[in-house]
Amino acid sequence: MSHGTRSEGAPRTDGPVPPGRHAVVVGGGLAGTTAALALADAGVRVTLLEGRPRLGGLAFSFRRGDLTVDNGQHVYLRCCTAYRWFLDRIGGADLAPLQDRLDVPVVDADRPEGRRLGRLRRDPLPVPLHLGRSLAAYPHLSLADRARVGRAALALKGLDLDDPALDEQDFGSWLAAHGQSPRAVEALWDLVGVATLNAVAGDSSLALAAMVFKTGLLSDPGAADIGWARVPLGELHDRLAREALDAAGVRTETRARVTSVRAGGDGGWTVGIPGETLRADAVVLAVPQREAYALLPAGALDDPGRLLGIGTAPILNIHVVYDRTVLTRPFFAALGTPVQWVFDRTDASGLRRGQYLALSQSVAHDDIDAPVADLRARYLPELERLLPRTRDAEVLDFFVTRERTATFAPAPGVGRLRPGARTKAPGLYLAGAWTATGWPATMESAVRSGVGAADAALGALGRPRPRHLFALEEAA
Ligand SMILES: Cc1cc2nc3c(=O)[nH]c(=O)nc-3n(C[C@H](O)[C@H](O)[C@H](O)COP(=O)(O)OP(=O)(O)OC[C@H]3O[C@@H](n4cnc5c(N)ncnc54)[C@H](O)[C@@H]3O)c2cc1C
Repeated sequence: MSHGTRSEGAPRTDGPVPPGRHAVVVGGGLAGTTAALALADAGVRVTLLEGRPRLGGLAFSFRRGDLTVDNGQHVYLRCCTAYRWFLDRIGGADLAPLQDRLDVPVVDADRPEGRRLGRLRRDPLPVPLHLGRSLAAYPHLSLADRARVGRAALALKGLDLDDPALDEQDFGSWLAAHGQSPRAVEALWDLVGVATLNAVAGDSSLALAAMVFKTGLLSDPGAADIGWARVPLGELHDRLAREALDAAGVRTETRARVTSVRAGGDGGWTVGIPGETLRADAVVLAVPQREAYALLPAGALDDPGRLLGIGTAPILNIHVVYDRTVLTRPFFAALGTPVQWVFDRTDASGLRRGQYLALSQSVAHDDIDAPVADLRARYLPELERLLPRTRDAEVLDFFVTRERTATFAPAPGVGRLRPGARTKAPGLYLAGAWTATGWPATMESAVRSGVGAADAALGALGRPRPRHLFALEEAA
């Protein structure tokens, strides 16, 4: 265990509610960390239990020799207001800044006359004009496709996100019905959608896809400006988060895998970890859906089996260290190649010589279990096509990180399966990017879910909501 004294165990006797209510948060990913901070800020005594040796869940870093490596490149958008609140709350906003203005270089490798660069960027104009000039000049689409994209975007803007029927349809069929060619899907809709939803349009719920595109591209002009950590993710989600939790008085235990969550018989709960049983007035289960299913007591959900119906999707990251600089931009997206998004991780990783690129490969079902040698043989030549300077460069290191259950699969119908923060068991709450936040599996969804669970728990514990806590527009 990391630190903290263990003084729980004795069941509370009946009587007046003691002022120091105790909440246990299970899971130290972004959802659980958020819930713990929110509850502690409201004056609740909080214990955060994380099974692994570190906080951060699916967004973490590890050491590889002299390098600090992220398990996967993470980005967020300006419209990710809850994650931005979280960054502020832990004092990390300056370490993960946003672009001043959306600007995504898009390189098409698959052209007989050589690579071609296009850009998706915005102008300082109101929506939807902010993207008009960029789209009109986007070289990866025909003129006719560009016009049809504009029409589909307006149709998308008109969709009512509260209409449950949207979740039953797939985005690919909707795009086809709105005149989008396979090329437009590949070069625009999937370019954005695959990275944000972790599914191609044909496998995505229209509700989630519409949510992403409406919020990111059709709400506020700056909504899709991209932000990413200039430091290892662990600096934010582990070190700074831990400091914030400590300062808020949260008892944080890592290497503390919860094995049971049971009603205590007195209206409270007992939470079991090896060697200790903790007593709690409220429990927030902020673990992935399968773990939540395994820990939920009988009767907590009408149909807990639904949790197992929520599928998962993999993300692969391919890490290449070259002996010299081969890329002069911070990142780019690629077309006409298996390579999807490429980020320069040199400074963040602490590399002193050469350049370190991370390839973020979503929807990686075909590659996720491929041997490293096969991935090397497949991806290095692709990088040579995309980045001519790699042809003369020496590869100093090549390795991969595989996240087989990186996100929940945003398949049509998934909205029905995602539970809200409240369970039927008083005092027991759910959080996690996979719960019903209305967002796809993102850091934003995780933080929102943590806020939602804390809100619900605070209401039941009779504690005021901290004034600085992120305000959800409305419970999704
Ligand atoms: C490679 C990759 C790339 C991604 N890219 C992006 C991106 O660019 N932008 C973006 O917004 N999102 C991205 N995501 C998604 C994002 O990381 C997740 O949605 C988010 O981190 C999920 O947070 P969470 O707290 O809901 O769940 P998790 O991070 O899964 O946290 C759950 C925690 O619970 C712990 N736990 C499980 N069981 C127990 C137990 N019994 N007892 C105690 N602890 C337990 C786990 O160890 C884990 O730490 C990416 C994910 C991956 C893997």
